[in-house]
Amino acid sequence: MYKDIGLFIDGEWLYPEGDKACLDIINPSTHQTLGRLACADQDDLDRALHAATQAFAQWKTSSAEERSKVLYEAYRIILSEVESIAALMTLDQGKPLAEAMAEVRFCAEHAKWHAEECKRVYGRLVPARNPKVRQSVVKRPVGVCCAFTPWNFPFNQAIRKICAALGAGCTLILKGPEEAPAAVAALADIFQRAGLPDGCLNLVWGNPEQISNYLINSEKVAKVSFTGSIAVGKKLAALAGAKMKRVSMELGGHAAVIVCASSDLDKVCSVLVDAKFRNAGQICISPSRFFVHESVIDEFMTALVAKTRQVRVGDGMDPDTRMGPLCNARQVERLQALVDDSLASGASLVMGGGRIDRPGNYFQPTVLANVPSTARLMQEEPFGPVIPVVAFDDLDTVIGVANALPYGLAAYGFSEDRIECAKLAEGLEAGMISINHYGLGMPETPFGGIKDSGYGSEGGAETYDSYLSTVLISEMTRP
Ligand code: NAD
Repeated sequence: MYKDIGLFIDGEWLYPEGDKACLDIINPSTHQTLGRLACADQDDLDRALHAATQAFAQWKTSSAEERSKVLYEAYRIILSEVESIAALMTLDQGKPLAEAMAEVRFCAEHAKWHAEECKRVYGRLVPARNPKVRQSVVKRPVGVCCAFTPWNFPFNQAIRKICAALGAGCTLILKGPEEAPAAVAALADIFQRAGLPDGCLNLVWGNPEQISNYLINSEKVAKVSFTGSIAVGKKLAALAGAKMKRVSMELGGHAAVIVCASSDLDKVCSVLVDAKFRNAGQICISPSRFFVHESVIDEFMTALVAKTRQVRVGDGMDPDTRMGPLCNARQVERLQALVDDSLASGASLVMGGGRIDRPGNYFQPTVLANVPSTARLMQEEPFGPVIPVVAFDDLDTVIGVANALPYGLAAYGFSEDRIECAKLAEGLEAGMISINHYGLGMPETPFGGIKDSGYGSEGGAETYDSYLSTVLISEMTRP
C-alpha cells in the first residue's frame, strides 16, 4: 500500500520520474525499500515560491470563517482516515501502529483547535489623545512561510505548522522529513480535498540544507518555522536573521525529571516508563535526565527496571509491540556512543546498553545508574530509549543542576509534598513544566521552549502570534 511520493506544488503532485533526483524511502524495521521520494530542484522551489506568493494574494483576504471551514473539514477527513495514515507512518517511521493511530487521531485536533481559534484573532481600538483620531490595531498575516519538520512525529509536527500558517491567512512551503514522508504527504492530499485553494500549501523534499538555504534567502518568504535539532535551528535562525525574517524554533530538549522522596514511586515509574519508551524515546519532551532522591533510589530502581523489562520491542505492525525501531541508523550509532561514553566515565549498566541483533534500527531499552554529570549523556539530548538515573539529596541543589544545561524545553517533577511541588513548578527553567504527570502537548496549550530550545509557541492561544504582524492604523476621522 506504500506508494512513491511526489512533490506537491500549486495543487499538483509531481512524482519521481525520468532522471530527476529521488530518494529511497526505507522501512526502519526491515531496511527494505518502501518506495521513492521525489526531490525538489531549484525550478521546483521557484515554482513553489511563485505558487505560494500568488495564492497568498487571495488567501490573505479570505474570511476567518472560510479558513475555519477548510481546517474543520481537514479535521473531519483525518478522523475518517486514521488507520490508513497511521499504517503508512508505522512503515516509514517505525513507531507501533497503536502509537501512530493515537498520533493521527489526537493531532487531528490541532486542525480543530486552529479552526476555532482563527475566528478569535482580534484587533483592538486604542483611545486616541485627539478625539478626531481613531487608532486601530489590526493583525495581518505575515505572508509566505516556509517550514521544516522532522521525522519523529511526522504527522504532529507538520499539521501544527500547516494549521497555524493557513489559519492565520498565510501560505506555506513545507519541507517534510525525507525519512518519514507518507503522513505529511497524506496531509497535503487531505487539505486539498478539504477545499484549500491551490498554492496555499506546497510540499517539497530533497536536500534539507539546499532547500532551506534557497527558501530562507528568497525575498518571497516572510517567515521561517523549524522543528529539529538545536544545531540546525541555530543555523536557520542565523540565515533568517540576516534577512530580518520572522522565525519560530522548536528545538531539542534534555528534560530533567526530579523524583522527590515523598512520591508514589510505583505510579511515577509507570508514568515515566510509558513516556520514555513512547516513540522509542525520540521525543523532544521525553523525560531524559532522571534525578531521584537518595533515600528512595533503590526502591525507584527496582520499580523502574521491572516496568522497563515489560517494554516489548518489535516491528511496529505487530500488535504486541510497545517500542519499535529507531527511525534511522544515525540514531543507533549516536545512542551507542553515548552509552559507551557513560560506561567509560564510571556509570553502571543496569539493563540494555546496545543495539539488538536483528535487521532494522533496533536498540535495547536501557537504564544506567550513577551517570557522572560530566558524561555526554548528561549533557547531550539522547533522543532514544536510554534512561540515566542519578541520586540527589537536596531539592534546591538538584533544581540548579537541572537548570545548568542550555536546554529549556520540558521538565518534570514528582512529589506528594505541596511545598516541594511549588519549588519544582517555580524553579525549573523550561518552556513546559509538568508536575506529577506527563501532561504536555495539548492543542489548547502552548508548546515551545526557552533558552537554546528555541522560541515561539505552537498551539494554545499563542499559536497564531508568530504568523501575524501587528499593524497600527491611526486615522483622522474628521477635519
Ligand atoms: P539533524 O539536525 O540533521 O536533522 C533534524 C531535522 O532537521 C531533520 O528532519 C532534517 O531533515 C532537518 N534538517 C537538517 N538539516 C537541515 C537544514 N540545513 N535545513 C532544514 N532542515 C534541516 O538531526 P538528525 O540526525 O535527523 O537528528 C538528530 C537530532 O536532532 C536528534 O537526536 C534530536 O536531538 C534532534 N531532533 C529534534 C527533534 C525535535 O522534535 N525537536 C526532531 C528530530 C530531531
